[in-house]
Amino acid sequence: MNLSTWARKKSPWIMHFPCGGCNGCDIEVVAALTPLYDAERFGALLKGTPRHADILLVTGVVTLQIKDRLRRVYEQVPDPKIVVAVGNCAVSGDVFDGSYAVAGPVDKVIPVDVYVAGCPPKPEAILSAVVKAIEKLP
Ligand code: SF4
Repeated sequence: MNLSTWARKKSPWIMHFPCGGCNGCDIEVVAALTPLYDAERFGALLKGTPRHADILLVTGVVTLQIKDRLRRVYEQVPDPKIVVAVGNCAVSGDVFDGSYAVAGPVDKVIPVDVYVAGCPPKPEAILSAVVKAIEKLP
């Protein structure tokens, strides 16, 4: 394992990108990243820019309005990157599936590496997905 891979796995930076849905998943992502659940024990840190991120946490169904922005944010995350789809809306579209305003679940727009089901998933499930994402970082 080279130095940059070692560093990335020890300190993966995360960007959270909400695409739509009811925002319930966003609240759980925020909760998962609070000191109560101590995501920093895995070295994980929330970042506000895709250019500094290793892991992209995407919540909500992808609306037509956000579709191009999601693709642009994905392209700005440096390779190698991991995408985690958080919540039923992001995984399958859930109740928004088929809506005229919706492009579809996240994997209809960008490649997804880890899926977390739930409406919304618990913070523990989100953290578990982050750990899986860290393991998948090449
Ligand atoms: S999965 Fe449930 S909680 Fe999450 S955005 Fe969709 S409707 Fe809201």
